[in-house]
Amino acid sequence: MADASALTVRFWGVRGSIACPSPAYMGFGGNTSCVEVRAGGRVLILDAGTGIRPLGQLLRREESSQADILFSHTHWDHVNGFPFFAPAFEPDHSFRVFAGHLADEGGIREAIAGHMHEPMFPVPLDVMKARLSFTDFPAGETLDLGTGVRARTAPLNHPNGATAYRIEHAGRSVCYVTDTEHVPGRPDERVLELIDGADLVIYDSTYTDAELPAHVGWGHSTWQEGVRLVRRAGARRLVVFHHDPDHDDDVMAGIGRELASESDDGLVAREGLRLEL
Ligand SMILES: [Zn+2]
Ligand SMILES: [Zn+2]
Repeated sequence: MADASALTVRFWGVRGSIACPSPAYMGFGGNTSCVEVRAGGRVLILDAGTGIRPLGQLLRREESSQADILFSHTHWDHVNGFPFFAPAFEPDHSFRVFAGHLADEGGIREAIAGHMHEPMFPVPLDVMKARLSFTDFPAGETLDLGTGVRARTAPLNHPNGATAYRIEHAGRSVCYVTDTEHVPGRPDERVLELIDGADLVIYDSTYTDAELPAHVGWGHSTWQEGVRLVRRAGARRLVVFHHDPDHDDDVMAGIGRELASESDDGLVAREGLRLEL
């Protein structure tokens, strides 16, 4: 039986930018960003990329009636699964939705409602019959989610803004740091502070250091910067995440081999990966 105080992490979508469900990507997975964290009897969902659809099917089967959805931001690869999150259409479920980048920009409810709007999408947000609450906060605040679970947050360097989360429960911690761009040679102090001593750091590793110069200003980082940050912050374990849709399984396997030579227990995220802290 699982330790009741444990914190578990499960990856449902590991891609950035756009889903890539074709054979050369099946080893690591084609769905966009969605990570499930369970702690203190709660279900937390980090982003609603296309990976949230199969997670929704699981929650329906489990009859889990409550979850919190924490958005890093609202670019398509982080929201496109939300309209296909089946339990949100059922009245016996309730979901709290949080975002840290829209407090001064109209709020997360308006952003989601605008996304689910004709002529781009036929089913409006109002059709969802679950109890939905929407909370905007300025990135940098700490959210008390109840039952001893809290989420510290920090703003990230990304077009239109994004929020990093550090979920803490019973002395364990997992950080979700995507999407963010670093300045080479200058570690992001806000990220360092957030991930200080964390057990697990899920990090925007869209590019390699060699690829970054051609993508300056695109808002993404590299797996090598993840290694440097985790080392510097005294965090325990890096998870390479938000894979570039141009990086097929062969490329990702190569990144995994390079990562293994740089880091004892760093991991490349793949769909279905489960970690217990
Ligand atoms: Zn993204
Ligand atoms: Zn983005």
